[in-house]
Formats: sequence, C-alpha cells, structure tokens
Amino acid sequence: MVEENVDLDVEAGEVKKGVVFCTELEDGSPVVFPYFVMRGLKGKKPVLLLNAAIHGDELNGIEVINRVFEEVKLDDLCGTVVGVPVVNTLAFRARSRVDPIDDKNLNRVFPGKKNGTVTERIAYHFFNDFVKKADFGIDLHTGMKGHLLVPHPRLRTLNGFKPSLEHYRAVGTEFIFQNEGEKGMLNIEAGKIGIPVVCFEIGVASVLDEYYIDTGFRGVLNFMRFYGMLDGEAEIPRQQVLLSDYHEEISQIGGLFYPKVKPGDVVSKGQLLGVTKSPYTGEKYFVKAPDDCYIVGIRSQPVVRQGTTVAWLMTFEKGDILPPLSRKNVRMVSSKIFDDSKNKGIRF
Ligand SMILES: [Zn+2]
Repeated sequence: MVEENVDLDVEAGEVKKGVVFCTELEDGSPVVFPYFVMRGLKGKKPVLLLNAAIHGDELNGIEVINRVFEEVKLDDLCGTVVGVPVVNTLAFRARSRVDPIDDKNLNRVFPGKKNGTVTERIAYHFFNDFVKKADFGIDLHTGMKGHLLVPHPRLRTLNGFKPSLEHYRAVGTEFIFQNEGEKGMLNIEAGKIGIPVVCFEIGVASVLDEYYIDTGFRGVLNFMRFYGMLDGEAEIPRQQVLLSDYHEEISQIGGLFYPKVKPGDVVSKGQLLGVTKSPYTGEKYFVKAPDDCYIVGIRSQPVVRQGTTVAWLMTFEKGDILPPLSRKNVRMVSSKIFDDSKNKGIRF
C-alpha cells in the first residue's frame, strides 16, 4: 500500500477532496479518513482545521463541516479551511464511540504512534498531517448517548498547561466549561505544541439534531469572523459564563425517566426536573431542583438504573461571569441565562 503524501497547499479559490491512508485491516482492506480543503480568494492564512467524529457515533459535527464547505463562499474567505468530517472511520462504521476491535479511545492517544494499533495510527496521521499544519482548530464532539447538554466548548487544563480562553469564547456560546483534562486528548496535546484546538460539544451521540448543528455551524462562523477569516461581526453574548463544576442529580430508582425541563432552562429551587417510573412496581421518583439553578443537561435516553445521572445542573454561585469580549468585529448579543434568571427573580 502506497502512503499518500497529504498536500494541504491548494491554489487560491481551489477546493480539494482526498483521503489519507493510515493502516490496513486483517483482510487487507485499508483504513482511510477523508479530508476537504478550501482556500479563499482573500488570502492563504490562517489555516483553520475543523474535525468531527473522533468518537465515531458523534454525528452533528459531520454535518457542521458539510455546511461550512457548502455555504462559505471562496470570494469571502481569507485563509484556508481544512475539514476532516470523520476522523475515526472504523468507529463510525461500527456506530460506536471507539473501534470495537482496538477498543482504544482516540481522544486519549494523541499524538499517536506511527507503528501503533489502528487507533494510534489514525491519531498519528491526523496529528502530523493535519493538526501540525493548522494555525488553530475546532474539534467537534457531542455528549455520550443519553447525555444531552447545552452547546459549549470544553477548555481543558493539565499539569500547569492552560490554553487561552479567547479561542473558546470566540465560538459565541453563553457557557464555557473548564475542567482538568487527560494526557492524549487532542486539545491538550495540540495546545502543548502551540496550536489552539477548541473542543466544541454540540448535542448528543447517534442523532442528527438541527438545533445543535445550527449552533455548531454558527459557532464556526463566529470563530472565523472573530479571527478575520470572514467579514462581519462575531455574535458573542454580553455575559459569558465560565463553569468549572456542575452538580449531577441521580435517579434513586430504576425505570423510565420522563424529563420535565430542557437543557438551557432556568429553574427555581424545588421545581420538578423529571420523574422516574418503575415499570415493575409503578413506584415514582420525582427529581427536583436542589436550588435555583441552570439546566446544563438532561438525560435523553429514558431507561435508567438506580444511580444513573438524569440531570446536570449549575447552581448560580458556581459560574464565573467573564468580562465582555469587546472588539471591533464583535457584536454583543443578549444572554438567555441572564434574561431568564432575571425574569424568574433569581440573582446570579
Ligand atoms: Zn467525543
């Protein structure tokens, strides 16, 4: 098998599509992943890398990348956009988060190994042929099956490594979630070599959801406007919230969970969040808000066990309000969390 030499250096106004060979399987069939490149007529730099499906069952980001390549006009684009809509093609084929044979989490093995397992080789080619050639990137993910959270970028720190918050704010969500990451994660390993890659969580695994796809697409356009790749103003909420911890409510019985609120709702202390009903005994368990809080996420797959998380909540003292990100190419927009909490008489 001849290894393709990936050339991302296309002509002004050119769109190119190709595949990268990573390794071969037991029957000799190749493992490849697809890529698209487009270079605008207004300039070659910067290079933005967009990728999705590092976890093979996370689908919304694939459609976000399709939309960028369908809708961004080469006349308007300053720079190069590289899209890898499905990185983990084996896991995608298996409708699974990871390749079921190799069983390694691709987002824990970056920068990969040239002579490693299938997953490590995919990581190696993606990291060396794509990530290292980009100025910055957006790595599109979703929550795991059942974990439907509000759209948010996930900033990760590790052993003193802390990326610039600005890239995360530039996608224009109300929320940015910050937590301690792990070795081998793409945004950690790329960030350590000076390439900011924003992990952007949009929706839930195994479904295509138009609200989350649209939010992801608008987030990419905000980022491109913020960094001058497209004309126009990035829409950034006047108040963005940096969240470093959330509270999880669990079901105390097994059965079917019926949510009564949606991600993004503001609720008052004691409000009903959902009910679990046992199909065996008819018993009911009512999940109620422990305090005034914001619904970060709600379980979207109904079958639960005793102890399964059914709601992810932010109590208002856990969020840090960031100062406004005012720049000449930013248009400040209102923040739904603030408007809703004010309407309910809840103080942030
Ligand atoms: Zn993921």
